[in-house]
Amino acid sequence: MQTSIKSRALKEFAEATATLANPAVEEWKRQGGKVVGYFCSYFPEEIATAAGFLPFRMRATGSKGTELADAYLSSINCSFTRHCFNMGLLGEYGFIDGAVCLSTCDHVRRVYDNWKWKVNTPFVHMMSLPKKVEEPQVGWYRDEMVNLKQALEKHFSVKITDDRLWEAIRLHNETRRLQRQLYELRKRQNPPITGAEALSVMVAGTAMPKQQYNLLLRELLDEISQREGNADYKARLMILGGILDDPGYIEVIEEQGGLVVTDMLCFGTKIMWKDVPEGTGDPLAALAQYYIAERPSCPRMFGDYPRRADFVRDMVREFKVDGIIGERLIFCDLWALEHYLQAKESKAGGVPYLILDREYLLAGIGQLRTRVQAFLETIRR
Ligand code: SF4
Repeated sequence: MQTSIKSRALKEFAEATATLANPAVEEWKRQGGKVVGYFCSYFPEEIATAAGFLPFRMRATGSKGTELADAYLSSINCSFTRHCFNMGLLGEYGFIDGAVCLSTCDHVRRVYDNWKWKVNTPFVHMMSLPKKVEEPQVGWYRDEMVNLKQALEKHFSVKITDDRLWEAIRLHNETRRLQRQLYELRKRQNPPITGAEALSVMVAGTAMPKQQYNLLLRELLDEISQREGNADYKARLMILGGILDDPGYIEVIEEQGGLVVTDMLCFGTKIMWKDVPEGTGDPLAALAQYYIAERPSCPRMFGDYPRRADFVRDMVREFKVDGIIGERLIFCDLWALEHYLQAKESKAGGVPYLILDREYLLAGIGQLRTRVQAFLETIRR
């Protein structure tokens, strides 16, 4: 399924998603800008922006294998981490000036352990991410943000002031508002953008300077908001999972007749459904509160499952979702448990739920098609 959008903005988003160092990043580097790569959506991008740097979400787009990484990482490390580290060893991440890992999971921890010794990135930093979402953990994460800020200031000889942080918060909130406007259009009976196209818009948002991205996204919203949308679909789907950065995966689902209208993904609603409250006090406290306690959380956060389940229920109602697809990278223990819980609850509420295990690189397309076709047949609209 594809829309007939022939949009310059969409083309630029697709290009940024299909490559690592896309033209926007290359131009940024040509002008002497610094790039900070990060491995988890809990990374406070606003701090990098306030330092004058470009935050870049690490992916392994274009990877062909994991031969080099396999010498350092176990075969039961998820394939996202193995492909990313392989890209690092191959020098494909030569354009980043810094890499920040978080203790998201053991797999990413192992990337940090190896990246700092084996990849030639000038600045490598680890943030310790709490496992709960209560007040003490908000304070803990604020301390981690102070450590990150000080480490960036020291290494790059920059000053990250409160004013610059508030400015960055306002800029990133603007990105989130525009992205939510895009999702509002997907609530329509005939959404003017497919799930695959929407994913490429979201991924590009983590790989371009925000000012440039916001301008392009406004252009795209103007273009598509008056358009006739997709009417030719069998079911409205929600997709749940972690690191899914390949629109090709959603294309395969949509080719079978399912239209992905919303998600709970690291490149989706999880990073933009809420704003950081804007104000004049302590910007790091506002950021810590937002990242730990306000946003839809990741399954790594203990004790917050009820809030995630509520979020999924709200999405199903608001976007008129007929069925949910839960995707998980093989060996990702966090999402294995989450899908078990969400599927049980969702099916009890009458919403079919399909769990798909996958590798980071799109493979086994025939099997994926068959599973999705069979799933769509179980959905009666
Ligand atoms: S997909 Fe799962 S295992 Fe892989 S990095 Fe993300 S949370 Fe960790």
